Amino acid sequence: MTDPSTIPTSRAWVEIRLDRLRENAAEARRAAGAGSALVPMLKADGYGLGALPIAAALRTALERSALWGFGVATLPEAEQLREAGFTERVLVFPPLLPEEFPRAARVGVTLCLSDLDAIRELARVASDVGRRLPFHLEIDTGMGRTGFPWSEASRWGSEVVAALGEEVQWEGTFTHFHSADEADPAPTREQWRRFRIAVEALPPLLPAPLLHVANSAALMRFNGFGCDLARPGIHLFGGRAGPASHPRPVASLRARLVRVREVAPGTSVGYGALYSARGPERWGTVAIGYGDGVARKLAEAAGRVLVRGRSVPIIGRVSMDMLTIDLTRVPHAQIHDVATLIGSDGEEEITVEEVARRCGTISYEIFTRLGRRLPRVYLDPETPEQAHEDPARPPLGPTESCAERNAENSDQ
Ligand SMILES: *Cc1c(COP(=O)(O)O)cnc(C)c1O
Repeated sequence: MTDPSTIPTSRAWVEIRLDRLRENAAEARRAAGAGSALVPMLKADGYGLGALPIAAALRTALERSALWGFGVATLPEAEQLREAGFTERVLVFPPLLPEEFPRAARVGVTLCLSDLDAIRELARVASDVGRRLPFHLEIDTGMGRTGFPWSEASRWGSEVVAALGEEVQWEGTFTHFHSADEADPAPTREQWRRFRIAVEALPPLLPAPLLHVANSAALMRFNGFGCDLARPGIHLFGGRAGPASHPRPVASLRARLVRVREVAPGTSVGYGALYSARGPERWGTVAIGYGDGVARKLAEAAGRVLVRGRSVPIIGRVSMDMLTIDLTRVPHAQIHDVATLIGSDGEEEITVEEVARRCGTISYEIFTRLGRRLPRVYLDPETPEQAHEDPARPPLGPTESCAERNAENSDQ
């Protein structure tokens, strides 16, 4: 167990356990099966946890043949990976504007395309740059955002083949599920049925495009339907994706107590003075707020934090940089103590799913809203440097490498 006090100099931070990320990746890999490879999704800076350190950890977790490439959402995200020296394939999923295609060709990414005009434009760009460019074609089986319509595949399939020429390579065909994480498997099975019908209606191509359909939920639940590739995201990062996903927690959110005091009955706290002490109470001020991604509504939603292994309530409204907790049950709490907003402390745990439920959202949004000013601290108890540290008496604050990485990331 990581002692939450490993980082004595920070007001607040996100702790990321790379060993657990690797375990989740190994589990995803087993679910995909030996004949298949993963395309871990690193969009939104690796779901807020830091795309570069995560990509590096995934590279060590998966053998070469099991890591087909990385998935991102924007060209700058792809460029960040390239500039850091990642040579794996990078798939950019949302449609780019046609004006971005030349830059995409320079960066060397694989675009996901959803209409004939985009394929023709890519062919033009490919002949300009004098290089064959691969793309993956999306089929819309119910998500409704992007993709060629599944029921008309025999029509557009031959149009796409006619547009291909020598310049572009139809390398993959995929769809995206809308409900794979929900209790009822029927909508996902129906989308899979539509995908197969569409794929079978396409003109034969050599080599046959790689097929991929599964996000985390469909990978863990249906083994990715046995496709060539699978695209897990949240499961890798420790967020549950549907009934078959039980990942190891990866991210913790921690902040320090910067003030502890006894208050008289009737003392009020926070904007709107929504809470007043009911008797003599002991309050702690924690150096984290909605400016760091802690939802303002968490207090009203019975939000809690862990201090010295005990659960205590958030009182009053969450401010931009601070929140207040009632420490009456933790008489020995003092300034510098660590409050855990997500993660474990002793026997107690606050899961990201609990926080998401209180905030009326999903783990994805909690992670991607973690503020830029929170240092990301990467812990890897399996590495020699960190294995021998006494967690209660750490030699350092945020490690140099993390501080540097964060500085790099904030340059982007
Ligand atoms: C984000 C994304 C995924 C990963 O979804 P998770 O639920 O996080 O596993 C897979 N495919 C596409 C196209 C995505 O955009």
